[in-house]
Amino acid sequence: MSAAPIFRRVALIGFGLIGGSIARAARAEGLASEIVTTARSEKTRARVVELNIVDRVLETNAEAVKDADLVILCIPVGACGAVAQEIAPHLKAGAIVSDVGSVKGAIIREMAPHLPDSVHFVPAHPVAGTEHSGPDSGFAELFINRWCILTPPEGTDPMAVEALRAFWAAMGAKVETMTPDHHDLVLAITSHLPHLIAYTIVGTADELAQVTSSEVIKFSAGGFRDFTRIAASDPTMWRDVFLNNKEAVLEMLGTFNEDLSKLTRAIRRGDGEALFDHFTRTRAIRRGIVEIGQDSAAPDFGRPHPPLKKAE
Ligand code: NAP
Repeated sequence: MSAAPIFRRVALIGFGLIGGSIARAARAEGLASEIVTTARSEKTRARVVELNIVDRVLETNAEAVKDADLVILCIPVGACGAVAQEIAPHLKAGAIVSDVGSVKGAIIREMAPHLPDSVHFVPAHPVAGTEHSGPDSGFAELFINRWCILTPPEGTDPMAVEALRAFWAAMGAKVETMTPDHHDLVLAITSHLPHLIAYTIVGTADELAQVTSSEVIKFSAGGFRDFTRIAASDPTMWRDVFLNNKEAVLEMLGTFNEDLSKLTRAIRRGDGEALFDHFTRTRAIRRGIVEIGQDSAAPDFGRPHPPLKKAE
């Protein structure tokens, strides 16, 4: 547990994978004297009460942000503008308002106009997640050794940025600050495009008439399985990512399509050298990711393998 709470009252709007993980980590590390939360549905709010990992569960967003020193929107990107408008009159002067959205430019455009000058707006994106969602999916260790990117608009009070940095660092994250546009470009290639490719491949395999869906599932270990994990990610979240990071994703898709054409040409011409060179370069990138500690070198990403059921 850290020496003293960083914030007196933290309010989490939305309690799914990310909100639930923040609640668990902040409680485990003693980062707030009080954690309050709310969620859109009665079902989720009731489940959070049962989980007993926050101090109070409130019915409305307005009640949740009252007197909070840090308010974090942990909801889909597309919902942030309307919620900012709803909570604006109820925010305490001097409060820090943040979010966890996977896109930053659009979040700032949608939220900032509604927020009063008396609060500090410090958008954030924890680059950590799983394909699971909902109040039971969070866990306190989610952010350990993962990046959290802060994108404060120009002129934001440095003390507010520092307080939020300290909060994320205390949950185990490595924190970096960048402009929203740069964030959106970097994430378009490292996260958004890979998800789009996974959604495409899994969809294409499903549609192929000559490969029945049972065969796709049966032989899934041959690379396809890893795509299915990514393609199982929350549809609402990812719809909002592509709607709100359109320019950067389209730019990266243009480059991707050119590279795909080059590889297509190499296969058509039987150009083994071009294929070998390309695959050697990509293998070095994987080694680089392992070297800087962003992943494990163990086979299959170091996943534990419980005994598999024997076929009948
Ligand atoms: P999640 O598990 O699906 O939880 C979403 C929460 O938002 C739920 O509490 C849900 O309420 C609420 N919500 C949904 N639609 C809403 C709306 N229109 N208005 C108000 N509340 C709404 O999602 P998550 O994975 O935690 O993602 C939340 C945010 O984190 C997203 O902006 C996403 O871009 C970002 N993020 C996600 C990941 C990831 O890997 N999942 C990683 C980094 C950042 P109910 O339960 O009551 O429906």
